[in-house]
Amino acid sequence: MRHRLVAGNWKMNGGLAANARLLERLASEWRATSGREMAVCVPAPYLAQAQSALAASAVSWGAQDVSEHAAGAYTGEVSAAMIAEFGCRYAIVGHSERRRLHGETDAVVGAKARAALSAGLTPIACVGETLDERERGDTDGVVARQLDALIEALGADLPHTVIAYEPVWAIGTGRTASPAQAQAVHEALRARLAVAGAGAVGILYGGSVKAANAAALFAMPDIDGALVGGASLDADEFLAIGRA
Ligand code: PEP
Repeated sequence: MRHRLVAGNWKMNGGLAANARLLERLASEWRATSGREMAVCVPAPYLAQAQSALAASAVSWGAQDVSEHAAGAYTGEVSAAMIAEFGCRYAIVGHSERRRLHGETDAVVGAKARAALSAGLTPIACVGETLDERERGDTDGVVARQLDALIEALGADLPHTVIAYEPVWAIGTGRTASPAQAQAVHEALRARLAVAGAGAVGILYGGSVKAANAAALFAMPDIDGALVGGASLDADEFLAIGRA
């Protein structure tokens, strides 16, 4: 059975008071009746707040990154085991902002996904091409390379992950891939996953998803949900995406 999920990525946004209002709305209004799960991936300092606000609700929570290392002299890093102690279900790995701004390679992203799984978390592993790569006709090659690194790192655990296809040119830009553009990449990703024995892995689309475009994206046969940035900070928008 495919994993259907709408996950919010708050990025480096939030504050205790604003978080409390948003989490309270999600906890009280989200009903998992649609066969789709809802989750929020919050900045690490707010994991305890998310845990206490959401523990009795149908909403899951998680982190936006994990260290590839288990413990030790890695100042500023947060291990997967630490994140798991806060009841998290998910950890995003390989977001394009981490790849671009923090130099994370495919191998590092694979190691982070493995670290997350070892701690009992489900990695939401991001892949996606830049605008240059798309315009050069390299989309399929880039996402295949990124996915292959995950396939290699995860081996038999691959079915326990979630993949997010996030075209870099659509993240935070207001420019969404059309449902057909997204479906074409999701279909290619699923075919590759199927060869690796994981054809039922959930594949989320991410990139300027909002209430107004979610239903058309979710109608595509290989789109199992969304990874939502900006719109996940607005309870009305995020709940509407979850219900789309
Ligand atoms: C993201 O940060 O993963 C994302 C998809 O952002 P946005 O929805 O704001 O484009």
